[in-house]
Amino acid sequence: MLGQMMTAPLLISSLIDHAARYHGGTSIVSVNTTGGIEHTTWAEVARNARRLGSALTKLGLEPQARCATIAWNNRRHLEIYFGTSGAGFVCHTINPRLFPEQLVYIINHAEDRVLFIDETFVPLVAAIRDQLPALDHIVIMGPRSEAAVEKLPGITFYDELIAGGDPDFDWPSFDENTASSLCYTSGTTGNPKGVLYSHRSTLLHSFAGNTADALAITARDVVLPVVPMFHVNAWGVPYCAAMVGAQMVMPGPGLDGESLVGLIDTYGVTLALGVPTIWLGLLGHAKAVGSSLTSLERTVVGGSACPPSMITQFREEYGVDTIHAWGMSEMSPLGSVNMPLAKHRDLPIDQQHRLRENQGRPPFGVELKIIDEDGADLPWDGEAQGDLLVRGHWVLDSYFHISDEGLLQDGWFATGDVATIDPDGYMTIKDRSKDIIKSGGEWISSVELENIAIAHPALQDAAVVGVAHAKWDERPILIAVPVEGQTPSEDELLAFFEGKIATWQVPDKVVFKDVLPRNATGKVLKRTLREEFGQVLTG
Ligand code: ADP
Repeated sequence: MLGQMMTAPLLISSLIDHAARYHGGTSIVSVNTTGGIEHTTWAEVARNARRLGSALTKLGLEPQARCATIAWNNRRHLEIYFGTSGAGFVCHTINPRLFPEQLVYIINHAEDRVLFIDETFVPLVAAIRDQLPALDHIVIMGPRSEAAVEKLPGITFYDELIAGGDPDFDWPSFDENTASSLCYTSGTTGNPKGVLYSHRSTLLHSFAGNTADALAITARDVVLPVVPMFHVNAWGVPYCAAMVGAQMVMPGPGLDGESLVGLIDTYGVTLALGVPTIWLGLLGHAKAVGSSLTSLERTVVGGSACPPSMITQFREEYGVDTIHAWGMSEMSPLGSVNMPLAKHRDLPIDQQHRLRENQGRPPFGVELKIIDEDGADLPWDGEAQGDLLVRGHWVLDSYFHISDEGLLQDGWFATGDVATIDPDGYMTIKDRSKDIIKSGGEWISSVELENIAIAHPALQDAAVVGVAHAKWDERPILIAVPVEGQTPSEDELLAFFEGKIATWQVPDKVVFKDVLPRNATGKVLKRTLREEFGQVLTG
């Protein structure tokens, strides 16, 4: 016997409809890529999304045609998110920082038919245009610009395209398992791989994201998604925000401390989300100009391990609660969030703070486990570390257009991360399995060492990698980036580890650099560092 309840497909169009109907007057602030700030509303974004859906349908695109974007976080990008998926096409966001060859590979592999770009990316796309045979339409996200036409003949303009679209366009209805959006992983090993999200997975992820122990976005929030819209759908924030009608501040291309502090203070941002490196810049600038970030209540930090010193600084200097979250492209991305339990309320405050440092527990809808080399489950004792596996409603089943043979292990996806889980289910990422340092049969977490190093006042950035060692196979070395004008010594930095970890885990050497190499999503390229410094201990 079936239940006798209504069913309707879980579709992304219903999110923007809800935002328009119940939060139509709520403002969306957007920093334009070419300068200036625009003010719009959810109602206007929804109208333009319908216009776009209608215009794309009139172009005769086939269902689920891929519509790519190379753009910063702005209101047109938001309209494209809802307009493409809502009309049954696939919104394929692309990272502009990729190398041209990677862009060509991704656009051709995805078989993109339409490409929306911010005008600043005209030269980037003009240089590869002749290698993109399947691409029919390039749309500049703005009004007509003759300068752009000269560089890239045959282009069209977003504002003209949607002007020809119907603001009362009826969203089509279809199976909720239909593909809605596509993101390629940054491909630090091999070619990038596409993760193809569905309407259903996106809506379930949004419901989970908005639970009170997760991102908990509400209609009273002013949300600043610093995480780019080309990085796992800005962690799903646009969908979560539409679901509850939160006000949004779209930061455009300027993600430096000065721009972000300006936006937070001007628009009363309550919740900001991004990777740790972004917050280093923000905290540095806030201090320099004496901003107290008064409106800011919470930051969500993920993408790389959030250093405990950053959580402390946000809390003690600005009264901001940092929510440490972990996830990956393959999981839409939310995998775990660190929030306290009722039983933590009466613990000494230091202990409560320490409990907030790890990557947290999964929201309902995803499950985590750790296994050893033979695939056997490891205990949740906070000590045993092993490969982290996940499954759930918004975890991928197979990559886009790649044979899925052997990807899942008994229905679980192997994340490539090494973690511990404590008896309460709190998970700590020790490392990516390829970065963990194996020293004389013992494992050393590079993340733990980095967390210590970055707290040194003379350092602005730090990375730890394992390099060859004659006796121990591998030993950790610290790659230190001093704060401008400071010259900390090797001895001083190594002494800083004393008492914080076992002596045998202290790095063997410190090398100095002006800047760390990072990939297109801001992650430190440890492989590059290993190539550069791999022989420093063996000579
Ligand atoms: P890509 O794999 O394309 O570089 P993802 O954003 O999907 O980009 O990266 C996911 C990986 O990032 C995770 O597997 C993990 O190694 C790392 N990561 C994400 N969040 C955290 C976190 N809070 N702490 C430590 N590592 C994290």
